[in-house]
Amino acid sequence: MHKIHIADKEFEILLDNDNISKRIRLIGIQMNVDYESRCPVFIGVLNGSFLFMADLIREIEIPCEIGFIRVSSYEGTESSGAIKQAFGLPENLHNRDVIIVEDIVDTGFTLTHILKEVQKQQPASVKVCTLLFKPTALKAEIEELEYVGFEIGNEFVVGYGLDYDGLGRNLKDIYRAKM
Ligand code: 5GP
Ligand code: MG
Ligand code: MG
Repeated sequence: MHKIHIADKEFEILLDNDNISKRIRLIGIQMNVDYESRCPVFIGVLNGSFLFMADLIREIEIPCEIGFIRVSSYEGTESSGAIKQAFGLPENLHNRDVIIVEDIVDTGFTLTHILKEVQKQQPASVKVCTLLFKPTALKAEIEELEYVGFEIGNEFVVGYGLDYDGLGRNLKDIYRAKM
């Protein structure tokens, strides 16, 4: 299926599940090398990262811990810029190697907020792993952005965890809104 409708919008396929899986496997291989004997803490940003985390973590063969936090900054298809509170950050990150797992980095405001909260606990290291990255939409500088699945254009996407007003998270593939 290459075209779908969600609510009032038409979407077309951007990345199929095979393509996504292959990329995630490669990121996993890289992380297994980078974090060998370090027991990193993966922190997924809900809701969007739940499928990405589930698939990524099964490529990780070294000891690791997994947690989730919740933040939201989006209404409709445009970033409000107003970042709400981050809930559920683990309180034991001191001297740990932290990997923040995101579905997508758009303006970068959400991540900037999360990174500030994480840094308060003085972890040993912090890196960000995002499935999707919109380089031309970025408004904040994020040095910690180490693992990127796919760079995409400044367009609105759904599927594989990402929603359009609550819908579409269950789709196996990633779609972009048709102009
Ligand atoms: P940022 O703070 O980087 O602007 O936005 C980050 C969050 O906005 C992402 O974690 C995601 O939840 C949401 N977001 C940004 N771009 C998109 C998009 O194209 N599609 C969807 N569904 N969500 C997006
Ligand atoms: Mg997100
Ligand atoms: Mg959303």
